[in-house]
Amino acid sequence: MSEAPAPAPAPVRTSAPAPALALTGVGKRYGRRDALLPLSLSIREGERVAIVGPSGAGKSTLLRLLATSLAPSCGAVQVFGRDVAGLGPRALRAVRARIGTVHQQLHLVPQASVMQNVVAGRLGSMSLARALAALVSRAEAERVEAVLAQVGIAERLHERVDRLSGGEQQRVAIARALYQDPEIVIADEPVASVDPARAVEIAALLGRAFAGRTLVVSTHRLEPLLPVVTRVVGLRDGAVAFDAPVAALTLDDLSRLYASRKGAAASPSLAAPRTPGPVAPAGVLALGASNTPGEFVLPGAVRAFVREYPGVRVSLAVKDSAEVTADLLAGRVEVGFVGARSPHPELHFEDLVEDEIVLVASPAQEGLPDEPIPPALAARLPRVEREAGSGTRAVVEDHLANLGVPLDPAAVALEVGTLVGLKAAVLSGVGVAFTSRLAVRDELERGHLRALRIDGVRIPRRLFVAWRRDATPSPAARRFVEVARAAVTRGAEGA
Ligand code: ADP
Repeated sequence: MSEAPAPAPAPVRTSAPAPALALTGVGKRYGRRDALLPLSLSIREGERVAIVGPSGAGKSTLLRLLATSLAPSCGAVQVFGRDVAGLGPRALRAVRARIGTVHQQLHLVPQASVMQNVVAGRLGSMSLARALAALVSRAEAERVEAVLAQVGIAERLHERVDRLSGGEQQRVAIARALYQDPEIVIADEPVASVDPARAVEIAALLGRAFAGRTLVVSTHRLEPLLPVVTRVVGLRDGAVAFDAPVAALTLDDLSRLYASRKGAAASPSLAAPRTPGPVAPAGVLALGASNTPGEFVLPGAVRAFVREYPGVRVSLAVKDSAEVTADLLAGRVEVGFVGARSPHPELHFEDLVEDEIVLVASPAQEGLPDEPIPPALAARLPRVEREAGSGTRAVVEDHLANLGVPLDPAAVALEVGTLVGLKAAVLSGVGVAFTSRLAVRDELERGHLRALRIDGVRIPRRLFVAWRRDATPSPAARRFVEVARAAVTRGAEGA
């Protein structure tokens, strides 16, 4: 009997998989006018990217270039690693079939039924007339129904599109893209010109409907999309102003987008002590922080520390308190800054700063009194909530439960994973939110948010610094904690 052949070696991947979309030096001119200056941008499979910027910034142009419906004036567009310019008509159609688009103008056929409109999207390469006349098989009808159910309008299958409300038509447009089953979805201003509550709904629907797919969404209003996207590219005057993961988005980035009035106001200066410590530590210092310290205390401390010890590379991961605690226990980070003390005996906690949790609302939200509100009402107001692992959420839940007025779970209007998302949702009137005063100090001072007083309730909140008991902190870690303490003290004095 002959020997079984040796198993074929597993294919070795010599390079990273090609990004879903890549622009290299791509620009677009109309006559003498640059709609988009040459830029390079790469979007990985499964990434969810918001392209944000004021009107005229070049968002639509960028989206049309990515969707391959517009040819660039210079540079190369690649979809799944294939250079679009080099493709013949057939290959181009195949590439385009992998990209679904949701247009701002929806591009629905008003006199046709929901079903016909949804199916027409799939047959995009045929003439629309033929597509609409095509007999829809039973299996296909079932798939259309399933897709409509996903967007919440299953019962409208045979309705004429011009009899639907604006919101329902938007759902048809999303269903049509979904029916095509694309790997990449490109949506042009899907939340423009709808009220804030509807915008949040549509954004959440996009997120759910296209879960797991690559999503590129343009918008001039970022807030409804913040809970949905993982990365934000800011466009201004045809150029990339910033490109950052949502978790790393700074308030500076946001305020640059929300209003151009800013500019003079620099971020608070947290000047470092200039004298280096006796032993200049070197190497990598891995830090973890939950949102409040991560966004409002540590960036200044990291800058100050790095100036003092340029030889140390600081890596800072901003997650929720529960995840930071897990990272500490697993040794993935040396020092953690968190908003809640966890009961792990292996961890040593020290106070970093004393803060307070406040209930904030948009000043535009009506019906909220100036005088303190009863705790039972505070627990029932429609609220924007942080995710389950958030330290702030844990502190509020415990505090109100102890007072006998537990937070009403049915009052959650939206759950968000970041503070920036929480603020944006409150600003756009989705609901009220409990948050650390430290995190909304600027907004309260400038009147962008108001704090609601709750009768007889004050929720103190401490931020802690933690490390493992069995690991002596390195000199770099110890020094960093000192710098962070100095930064919070200065921040508090400046308040
Ligand atoms: P946004 O989507 O951010 O509003 P656009 O991509 O639509 O921006 O437009 C960017 C710039 O390019 C604008 O100044 C716009 O007037 C110009 N532009 C866009 N499309 C055309 C076109 N077809 N012909 C001439 N100029 C155009």
